[in-house]
Amino acid sequence: MTAHKAGADGFPEVAPGAEPEVAGAAHGEGPDVVGVRPDTRMVVCAPLLPEARAIRRGIGSGGEVRITGYGAARARRQGERLRRDTFGTLVVAGTGGGMADDLRPGDLVVASDVTDGTTTTACPSAPLLAGELRRAGLPVRTGPVVSVDRLAHGRERARRVDPGALAVDLESAWLAAAAGGRPVAVVRAVSDTPRRPLLSPAALAGGLRALRSLRAAAPVLARWGAAAGQRRLLLAGPRSFCAGVDRAIEIVEKVLERQGPPVYVRKQIVHNTHVVADLERRGAVFVDELSEVPDGACVVFSAHGVSPAVRREAARRGLAAVDATCPLVSKVHAEARRFAADGYLVALIGHAGHEEVEGTMGEAPGAIALVETAEDVASLRPQDPGKVAYLMQTTLAVDEAERVAEVLRERFPAARAPGSDDICYATTNRQQAVRAVAAESDLVLVAGSSNSSNSLRLVETAERAGVPAHLIDGPADIQLGWLAGVSTIGISAGASAPPAVVGQIVAALAGLGPVGVSERVTTTESIHFSLPKEVRSP
Ligand code: SF4
Repeated sequence: MTAHKAGADGFPEVAPGAEPEVAGAAHGEGPDVVGVRPDTRMVVCAPLLPEARAIRRGIGSGGEVRITGYGAARARRQGERLRRDTFGTLVVAGTGGGMADDLRPGDLVVASDVTDGTTTTACPSAPLLAGELRRAGLPVRTGPVVSVDRLAHGRERARRVDPGALAVDLESAWLAAAAGGRPVAVVRAVSDTPRRPLLSPAALAGGLRALRSLRAAAPVLARWGAAAGQRRLLLAGPRSFCAGVDRAIEIVEKVLERQGPPVYVRKQIVHNTHVVADLERRGAVFVDELSEVPDGACVVFSAHGVSPAVRREAARRGLAAVDATCPLVSKVHAEARRFAADGYLVALIGHAGHEEVEGTMGEAPGAIALVETAEDVASLRPQDPGKVAYLMQTTLAVDEAERVAEVLRERFPAARAPGSDDICYATTNRQQAVRAVAAESDLVLVAGSSNSSNSLRLVETAERAGVPAHLIDGPADIQLGWLAGVSTIGISAGASAPPAVVGQIVAALAGLGPVGVSERVTTTESIHFSLPKEVRSP
């Protein structure tokens, strides 16, 4: 049964702090949040004529480009006028000074926020715009932009501008503040850098490069403006981390805590780039094979499991192994061993090359055959057709796997099934929940990495429900074209995707206009797996 839950906080199922509250988002389900803005005009403010020209050439009819004048005083005056205007979206674009040593002339800085030191305007859709610019082949960075009252160079600039700023200019903060809650973007093309200051001989070339980048960015700005609008966001519940992933991450954290870095982890602990990058920052070293682990070191086996051959090799090398295999994967391993010991040919329904499949097949080499599709069933050659059993990879699409199992049962009526479902509770629940949001959505976005089987199956499940669906690692992967004409977006996350990523996606979409955030909860989960003895607290 689908429980409709218009959460007051928008994220009722998530631990406090895991998914940030969305500033400016209209939470609730009322139809008033979905509709057409009274004025959808995009105004682009360019301080100088050459900047305005460069943008006009690229933007066509996608926005009204205004020359707002050079310097803080003019920007303040224009800002006041803009506040009274009825535009739909606002872009401030021009050239600017780079603050980071690794910026080069022509690089684009998309502001995450812009400040004059007193007033700060957030630009929450910055990751969407930056992602689209990157896909257009442009060099882009995202970060804070600071506007100052007067031009400063070299050391003076470094002294006067917040060291966390990526770019500095004389206008953006006062112009962007005029957005007054409407979607706003600030893009500065770097003309000078700490290494190539404004008054150096290289400055002219830097300025020309910056103008070229502005022109190339202009069509993307038009797409950003066209993607703006009010929307409903439906969060699938459950979504994101499962008990097996939680446990695997906690195991690595505990080992890091106990023995300090480096801690070797064979394969990605779970299939998610954010999780892996975070643990790497904290001292985990991910390796593909045990041969990369020094003798006697500690190694963690990933949540997807390993074959007995890997365990034997670790023991032979004197490695201190900590096993983060999900207990539900271990359950499939045990079934494989049991069927093989009883003389069965085990058909493993799964995907070739997946680590979990490799681990399970290693439990009984010679007695397990991989079956990827219903067609593969025909190629099974059991010695005794009465002794066939089947198992499943834990993260398959429930309906597809069942179709393969059906064909297998037709060919081998005596085929033994696993004692209990192999496709795990987390996979099943997330597929059910994504189906529920897909039924009400124009588009479904699934947070997850491209090697996450669980996440990919969620995309396919939504697609089978007749809705366009995309896998995204984070908001930067959202293509603005996907949003055209879309008023309701379903959002889910694979079992390996951190809850915080969902918060980032919601926040970025809220930067394109007011969003009503609600959740469709098909079931709640309370499963928890205990830690292995090596990392349990004494
Ligand atoms: S998706 Fe299922 S099998 Fe995989 S780690 Fe999570 S609970 Fe375990």
